[in-house]
Amino acid sequence: MERDLKGLIQQMTLEEKASFASGLDFWHLQGLDRLGIPSVMVTDGPHGLRKQAEGSDHLGLFNSVPATCFPSAAGLACSWDRDLIQQVGEALGEECQAENVAVLLGPGANIKRSPLCGRNFEYFSEDPYLSSQMAANHIKGVQSKNVGTSLKHFAVNNQEHRRMTTSAEVSERALREIYLASFEGAVKESQPWTVMSSYNKVNGTFASENPRLLTEILRDEWGFEGFVVSDWGAVNERVDALKAGLDLEMPASYGVGQTKILDALQNGSLSEETLDQAVERILSIVFRFVDSKDQNAAFDKEAHHDLARQVASECMVLLKNEDSILPLDKKRPVSVIGAFATKPRYQGGGSSHVNPTKLENSLEEIEKKCAGKANVLYAKGYDLDRDQTNEELLTEAKEAAVQSDVAVLFLGLPDRYESEGYDREHLNIPANQVELIEAVYEVQKNMVVVLSNGAPIEMPWLGKVKGLLEGYLGGQGLGGAVADLLFGYANPSGKLAESFPQKLSDNPSYLFFPGEGDRVEYKEDIFVGYRYYDTKQVKPLFPFGYGLSYTNFKYSNLKVDKKEAQESDLVTVTVDVTNAGTLAGKEIVQLYVKDVISSVARPEKELKGFAKVALETGETKTVTFTLDRRAFAFYNTELKDWDVETGEFEILIGKSSQDILLSDSIKVISSRTPKLTVHRNTTIGDLLSDSVLAPVASQVLAKLNENNLLMSAADDEEGADMMAAMMKYLPLRALVGFSQGTITEEQLQEAIDQLNAAYEEEGNVSK
Ligand code: BGC
Repeated sequence: MERDLKGLIQQMTLEEKASFASGLDFWHLQGLDRLGIPSVMVTDGPHGLRKQAEGSDHLGLFNSVPATCFPSAAGLACSWDRDLIQQVGEALGEECQAENVAVLLGPGANIKRSPLCGRNFEYFSEDPYLSSQMAANHIKGVQSKNVGTSLKHFAVNNQEHRRMTTSAEVSERALREIYLASFEGAVKESQPWTVMSSYNKVNGTFASENPRLLTEILRDEWGFEGFVVSDWGAVNERVDALKAGLDLEMPASYGVGQTKILDALQNGSLSEETLDQAVERILSIVFRFVDSKDQNAAFDKEAHHDLARQVASECMVLLKNEDSILPLDKKRPVSVIGAFATKPRYQGGGSSHVNPTKLENSLEEIEKKCAGKANVLYAKGYDLDRDQTNEELLTEAKEAAVQSDVAVLFLGLPDRYESEGYDREHLNIPANQVELIEAVYEVQKNMVVVLSNGAPIEMPWLGKVKGLLEGYLGGQGLGGAVADLLFGYANPSGKLAESFPQKLSDNPSYLFFPGEGDRVEYKEDIFVGYRYYDTKQVKPLFPFGYGLSYTNFKYSNLKVDKKEAQESDLVTVTVDVTNAGTLAGKEIVQLYVKDVISSVARPEKELKGFAKVALETGETKTVTFTLDRRAFAFYNTELKDWDVETGEFEILIGKSSQDILLSDSIKVISSRTPKLTVHRNTTIGDLLSDSVLAPVASQVLAKLNENNLLMSAADDEEGADMMAAMMKYLPLRALVGFSQGTITEEQLQEAIDQLNAAYEEEGNVSK
């Protein structure tokens, strides 16, 4: 239905319009009965609904109505499965419809800069391409049910420490290539109904009152059409925020924002047009929901639970499988050890905390698999609510372990270790869990560890365990998923969406996280995650993109459809993947691009494509990737644009960022001919390495050096090379000084003019 929103706004009083720019209460937008504008509800997000019926808070303290709890984003991203994420989004959208929720507050597309960030479990990846793809498909799924999303937290909110006051100081290149790119792809590809501005400042200006972020980049460059909402309580000065492009303040400020807006309208510092525009954007989303509301919406709890369980099994990552200890034989006695086996940690703390419709636990699910076939022994192993070892629990655990063929330990980070609101200070699991590993190892060498955690941990004990399954925070179906994977009812197919460092201090942000006072400088710049580990050659514990399967895959027949491409061409890359093992499985094929020679520092390689393929045993499928110019580009801060430099690029196909199996190369030709503007301080080296200027420069230099006073004629090749190397950084003006009076300033200027005239082509861009 077409609504005349402008007409509606004309009928509103100034007071009404100003009130619409803030919420009605914690979760509702303003409505206006007189004009038939209903008040709609928004709720968290992102991996389940947190619809609070009574009481409201943004820390997940008050309970919410039962809803399906899917794995949190850290886990979801390990599926690398666009369709699956979309399916999760669809299910979430259905639940929103059933609960009359207009906008689900998520997904979160912030980059995992440091593994310490307390909220990493809610974010997808350290890589902007993977993150934006996951976010885009989450959004597509939810919005396909006529429910909005809120892509958050825009932008550069990569820590909880002082999150409401700190300023993220980040270079333009790192912003564009890493931190904004994660949002950019999602906005362009799936047009979220809303975007949530973050709490922090970006380069000194609050994200919520940052016109560059909220208007110039988000709307003018990326084409965002919805409304911008503040994170809860993120508005600093309401009028500055409105002018910058923040349409809706949440939660309600109970008249404070409205009064400030009215005052500013009155004293002329705010135009009515700006306010009208914000109200129009808000109304257009309100009616988008209201006009397509499914009046009989309901959702199938069981079907959504089954989906949550299936999704969880697609997300978990098999990190180690020595001696093929997994899958387990359900006819052999197994001991299940660890409090997490009966009290799963399946989601993170804070605003995303969901009240699940039901909850599986791993012990019961394992017992179901083994029922009537083998003994399952259980021991608690450690106290969940403290770090101290309980000797009795250790003894019990050893007794169980010794009576079984294999011990499966359920370990990880308890709730208090990671949450929204604060960051971790180390990457350890509690000491009582480490002691448990050591104690069980004394009596049982067949040990498998299943982890529940929202972000990487250090594993000094890794050598003691044969099997390791990273479960992340697997949602309400975690128990069944773990049992399916352990016993081979499902084949692990997740791969890490982030690097696990050997130790915290290996992480590139280590020296600069979480900043000093209210400033955190992103000095590692674009070298985030594997971009750093690969380039710096620091070996991670488990690399980005890594994950094992019970089968194995072979790659062959890599084809790049061109040897040479113009930057505007699309490049098609194909590769065959074969399941060479004895079980059906899924493989995540990754495509990285490496710029062989560049005028700026670039990472060793960057992810530019991925695909998840299901293969029966013996089956081969061809995977196709399409690369556009962005796959080869870096952000050129001088041009203020993405830039492709002419040259060779390698196309790398791998199983992980560190396991590249096939490669080929392509020459990409830039549409831009860089033009050097020659001046007194242009160096000889720059002149000689410029393809247009080099021949002219050689002549000019030879002429200036007629008397051999600048460069004495070298008598051998080595001498000539040395002379050339020394001359490389000499600015032109120095020729006058070193010429013993034979070159005048006028001659120098003539030479400069001659060189600048060498560029005659139209449309050349200055370098
Ligand atoms: C969080 C947001 C959340 C909001 C509402 C804030 O504290 O940062 O992610 O959507 O609260 O609960």
